Amino acid sequence: MKDIYCNVCGKKLFVENGILKEDAFEAKKQWGYFSKKDGILHSFVICEKCYDEMVDSFVIPPEITEVHEL
Ligand SMILES: [Zn+2]
Repeated sequence: MKDIYCNVCGKKLFVENGILKEDAFEAKKQWGYFSKKDGILHSFVICEKCYDEMVDSFVIPPEITEVHEL
């Protein structure tokens, strides 16, 4: 497994035995017909610090729901 870096700041994320042990925002988007990127997959990772900064710049903040896992 290759190293994983935050796409925004370039920080190397902590990976152990092929598992991302540092929580990060992982995005994957396959663009479709109504975009200018039809059939193209974009994927990137954003570390928690950069995620917080990105979200702070939103005009409308993300919806936040507390999840209780069993
Ligand atoms: Zn970052």
